[in-house]
Amino acid sequence: SSDVCSSDLNLNNNKDIGIMALVNEHYLKLSSNYLFADIAKKVNAFKVSHPKANVISLGIGDVTQPLCPAVIEAMHKAVDEMARKASFRGYGPERGYDFLREAIVKNDFLPRGIHLDINEVFVNDGAKSDTGNIGDIVRWDNSVGVTDPIYPVYIDSNVMAGRTGIMENGKWSNVNYMPCTAENNFTPVIPDHRVDMIYLCYPNNPTGTVLPKEELRKWVNYALKNDTLILYDAAYEAYIQDETIPHSIYEIKGARKVAIEFHSYSKTAGFTGVRCGYTIIPKELTAATLKSAERIELNHLWDRRQSTKFNGTSYISQRAAEAIYTPEGKQQIRETIDYYMGNAKIMFDSLTRLGFKVYGGENAPYLWVKTPDGVESWKFFEQLLYGAAVVCTPGVGFGPSGEGYIRLTAFGDRDDCKEAMRRIADWIRG
Ligand code: PLP
Repeated sequence: SSDVCSSDLNLNNNKDIGIMALVNEHYLKLSSNYLFADIAKKVNAFKVSHPKANVISLGIGDVTQPLCPAVIEAMHKAVDEMARKASFRGYGPERGYDFLREAIVKNDFLPRGIHLDINEVFVNDGAKSDTGNIGDIVRWDNSVGVTDPIYPVYIDSNVMAGRTGIMENGKWSNVNYMPCTAENNFTPVIPDHRVDMIYLCYPNNPTGTVLPKEELRKWVNYALKNDTLILYDAAYEAYIQDETIPHSIYEIKGARKVAIEFHSYSKTAGFTGVRCGYTIIPKELTAATLKSAERIELNHLWDRRQSTKFNGTSYISQRAAEAIYTPEGKQQIRETIDYYMGNAKIMFDSLTRLGFKVYGGENAPYLWVKTPDGVESWKFFEQLLYGAAVVCTPGVGFGPSGEGYIRLTAFGDRDDCKEAMRRIADWIRG
């Protein structure tokens, strides 16, 4: 009855726990110390003891250059449309507006010989949401494979879903870690057993390395043979300089049957604050049900998921994204990417000259640097901070195989980048 009070329900009695709202306890398994918060804490401690030091961060993965003029113009125009009753837009289609999906199919895929239907494209508010949410449409007990080191979202989102098992010696028991180190030239070894779903990210965050076509083909063949779902994160494809490196997994025959691909305008066009990207789920891509082994279209399931939990990306962001496919937009975003890649080259050359072993940085905005004499990542982080007032990201923060490396990003200003290299040179040469 409505006058039952809490004492009647005996809320403090553990035996009656079933009548309380319970938390998703998988969240309690997540590590509470967040990498970038730990870095900020250490940098702040340094600033307190060195108030005059001008710290340069080569650590955080955010862009620094403004949106290009073509995007700004499109956004202004979209805002003006919103200001008039006749052209105002409310909720848009959950999959995204046709004008953007058509531009994606025509510009990002057709020139590479990939034919997509616009209904295979789902516009999103950035790749983090979709890489994190995609697990909604597959079973909670699928096994997971990741390259190690790795963008942490892939693992943490699976921890939240209860898919990763228990933590033992720094690794999850139901996760297959595929080490990528200098010893194997950052090329993950294909598992000798079947894994249900595998995350691949190329060009890679954090190592900045890429996967040649022959290597990617091996993964697609493995997936076709083992009925494995590949979750391919192409967030950095716009940074590829070497024409032989694939920009999309669908450049490989058979990939439409096994792979979902994630794209983002964040690093391509400086959209980290605008928020827009897209996910490709081909119609041929299916997965089985446990009992009947019936094949289900993942495109259909994702559409169902999105229409329940997502109300579309803002019209203004989608018009902004469309503008990067105009001739001026293409040219302007290329200039910014070239600027960042110019930073990457300066860093790569300077550090190599100083005797560091440097990986990545040629087809990606990330440099992965081996610490001298096998010093641990966090120790080298502190040495670099106190020796040169330069902030990096400790490699071990991206997974156990990142120990002994640091990540540097090329997203800074050119002057900062040069100054950081000068300081590192002075520090190293004593
Ligand atoms: N995927 C990778 C590998 C990333 O490094 C990032 C961002 O740093 C993202 C996805 C997410 O990008 P966004 O959500 O801004 O599109």
